[in-house]
Formats: sequence, C-alpha cells, structure tokens
Amino acid sequence: MKQVEQIYINGKFVKPHGTEVMDLISPINKEVIGRVTLGNAQDVEDAVAAAKAAYKKYSKSSLQERADYLERLHKAVKARASELVETMIAEYGGTRTMAEGTVNRAINSFLLAKDTMLNFEFTRKIGEAKIVLEPFGVVGLITPWNANYSFICGKLATALASGSTAVIKPSELSSLQTQLLLECFHEAGLPPGLYNVVSGRGDVVGNAITQHRDIAKISFTGSTVVGKAIARGAVDTMKRVTLELGGKSPNILLDDADFEKAIPLAVMMAFMNSGQACIAGTRLLVPEHRLEEVKRLVVKAIANVKVGDPHGKDVQVGPMVTEKQYERVQSYIREGIAEGAELLIGGEGHPQGLENGNFVRPTAFANVKPDMKIAKEEIFGPVLSILTYKTEDEAIEMANDTDYGLHAYISGDQKRAEKMASQIVAGRVFINGMYEEPRAPFGGFKQSGIGREFGTFGLEAYLEPKTIMGHA
Ligand code: NAD
Repeated sequence: MKQVEQIYINGKFVKPHGTEVMDLISPINKEVIGRVTLGNAQDVEDAVAAAKAAYKKYSKSSLQERADYLERLHKAVKARASELVETMIAEYGGTRTMAEGTVNRAINSFLLAKDTMLNFEFTRKIGEAKIVLEPFGVVGLITPWNANYSFICGKLATALASGSTAVIKPSELSSLQTQLLLECFHEAGLPPGLYNVVSGRGDVVGNAITQHRDIAKISFTGSTVVGKAIARGAVDTMKRVTLELGGKSPNILLDDADFEKAIPLAVMMAFMNSGQACIAGTRLLVPEHRLEEVKRLVVKAIANVKVGDPHGKDVQVGPMVTEKQYERVQSYIREGIAEGAELLIGGEGHPQGLENGNFVRPTAFANVKPDMKIAKEEIFGPVLSILTYKTEDEAIEMANDTDYGLHAYISGDQKRAEKMASQIVAGRVFINGMYEEPRAPFGGFKQSGIGREFGTFGLEAYLEPKTIMGHA
C-alpha cells in the first residue's frame, strides 16, 4: 500500500501541518490501495508565502527562461508517462484509452503554453497608449478527479507562461496520481516556490485558497455548485476567477444523418471517460418520426460497450471513481424510472460479474421529457437520455433549454449543421465527429463557467492589462 505523507512547498516535499489521514480506495475492487495525509489552512499559508516570495524574481523572468522551464516540465512528465497511465487506471479507474489521452494532454500542455507564450503580444499599442499585459502574482489552481494530470499541467503551464507563481490544490481523491506527477515536476529542477501543491479537502484547503488575500486569481475546474461557492468567496478579495464547470450537453441528430454511424458515436460521446466527463453528450435529441430506429440502434450500440476492469485494453467503460459517485448514478437511474422514462437498456445495479467495484450498467432512457431530472441535471455516469423533437427550431430550443452551455454535438448535413451551430448556446460545438484542437478556447456559457482556458484566450485570462501613457 502506498503512503502519501508529504505535500510540496518551496521546492521541497514536506510534512503537512494537517493530520487527517484518508484512505484511497480502489474503484475497481474497493481495496485500500493507499493513504494520504491531508493538508490544512496552515499549509496553504506556507504555500502562498513561498509562491509570493518566488514571484518577485519570477515576474521579471525572460520569456526564454520561462520557455526553458516549460520544456523541462514537459520532458520530466514525458519520462514517466507509462507509470502515470498505470497509476491513473489504478486510482481513478479510468480506461486505458482515457488515461493515455489524459497523460498525453498533460505532457503536451507545457509545449502548447510555451508556443502560445512565445507568439503572444505581451505589449500592445492602442492609439497613444502602450498596453502591457502583466501577470497577477500568485494564482490558486483547484482541480477535480476526473482528469487530474491534464488539469494540473494545463493550468500550471499557463500560469508559468504568464509569469505568475502557483498554489495548486488537486482533488484529494487523486493523491497517488498527484504524488507521481510531483516527482516528475521536482525532477525538472525549477527554482523553488514557482509551484506549491497542497492536497486536502475542498472545504479546508480549497476554502483557504479562496479566502487568501495574497492570491489574485483562481482557476477552478469542478462542479457548478463548488464553482459558485468559490466565486462567492473570491469576491471579498476581488480575485479574478476562471471557472470550468459542469455540463448537460446536447447531441442533435438531424434526420438526414447516417444513423448507423452517428448513433454508436453518440453513445461513445455520452459514455466517454465512463460518463464522468464534463463534455459528455448526455442528451440525445432525435427526430420524433425516427425514434423507433434510434431506440434499436442505441440498444445495439450499448450492448456492444465493454464494461470492466479498466486495465483491459478494449474496455470502454470503467468503474465510477467512488462508491458515492456509484450511488449518485444509481439514484438518477431510479429517478428516471420513477419519472416515467422508458428504460431501454441497463438500469440499476452492477453489471454481472462486476459486483466488487463501482461499476454501473451503461444505461439509456427513451421518452425523456425536458422537465425530467435526467434531462436537466448532470449525472456524471454512463446514462444517456433520449428526447424527441418535431422541427429543427424545436431541436435548437431544446438544446438550449438548460442551465449549462459547455458543449454541443450535431450530426447530419454539413450546411444544416453549421447553420444550427450558430444558434447553439455553448462554448464548443462539434459537427459530425469528435475533435481535438488544444489551442482553441475551452469553457462554457451560462452556468458551465466563466472564462476560457488554452491558447491565447487562456493565457490572456492570466494577465492584467496596464495602460501606460506619456511613454517615450
Ligand atoms: P468538485 O467541484 O466536487 O471538486 C473540484 C475540486 O474543488 C476538488 O479539488 C475539491 O476538493 C475542491 N473543492 C470542493 N469544495 C470546495 C470549496 N468549498 N472550496 C474550494 N474548493 C473546493 O468536483 P469533482 O467532483 O471533483 O469533479 C466533477 C465535476 O467537475 C463535475 O461537475 C464536472 O462537470 C466538473 N468538470 C468540469 C470540467 C470543465 O472543464 N468544465 C472538466 C472536468 C470536470
């Protein structure tokens, strides 16, 4: 069993002041696989002090120096890629494909931030004014458990590119993954204090970061409920916030789409990362007159989804991260049945033979009405809700009838889909497929968040414009 007994402050692994010890439980078989000692508010104080001291020098660093640090972090994380993948599978239960994707994104994030920074205009002219984009100082980075490495690396890379220093609070559920990532960072040999990491509970460590007067900005990825609490807390010290929150993304199937192709893809869009993905397309909006065909194809596609121990190469859906998350998904499945939706496949309980872990049965409901909970709330598990529309206008209205606005998917005729995309209220719209463009802005409309990450939009979010007039 692994013990995580240290946090990382001022370039060193140190014992936290916090004394609470938490078990890390395998989502695959519920065995205790590790123990972590959690940090507390005093540890945040120490981390902020280190980051603040390091900022004095770092804020004056050249872009070349920052580029060198980013390059070193990239190399150090890459060197342990396969260990990172195995640890993510074991601790989080992510499928192999998902874990490999997350590790690759984490590795590449440093080079992307470097590239963005080297091509970024930190000084601009507007009329007679010189505009200088300056770093914030110390930033707080708070991340969730569903893609621990890439959230930490993406945020840290951008913070360092901007010239800020960081205090990072990863999810306490990802402690083994964070420990390994920190060993990589340490190996990169950056000056002390540029990044400091305090694992701990959200209401303790996260809250201390939110309240701290020496932290100028928070970049948070997580649930909308916690995002709102952070935004409320941050206002007292007027912290800037970037919030990447939840979603209930629509997937619109136009009547001219090739259903044989689009539906298996729609199922994977809903069940990606075992359904624990903020961008999952969990509301499938289909033309009413083709519902029977959709139902048949959805059942067929889900019957072919391989659920199981995520160590297996071909496994597509692994366990839920915790028993609590398993129970949450179960309660939504019960709710769907109670509200009168038609259970097409899946349902309550474990898949046969997988009773020892947090495995759920990939589930689809038809005849879901827009006011049902399973149509409105983020479930964060492999549960697909199928709703029907009569006209294209109604499809757009239904797609936008949500508090969220993170992502949307459309399948069908290219021209029709593009026209529709312009009317969808979401931060990203994918037409006829899944794509990856890591330099494009990522973030949500409405209650899916505030601000954008990645590329130039992401870097700008870490900078404060200063106007200088009367300059030479
Ligand atoms: P969460 O909101 O419970 O926790 C996220 C982080 O915030 C954790 O580190 C947690 O310890 C911390 N936290 C909890 N309470 C806090 C508080 N009061 N103050 C400060 N920090 C606090 O989310 P989660 O369960 O870890 O992750 C799942 C959620 O994340 C889902 O809702 C999902 O949609 C969202 N998510 C969003 C994106 C995105 O980019 N939009 C990406 C992935 C996940």
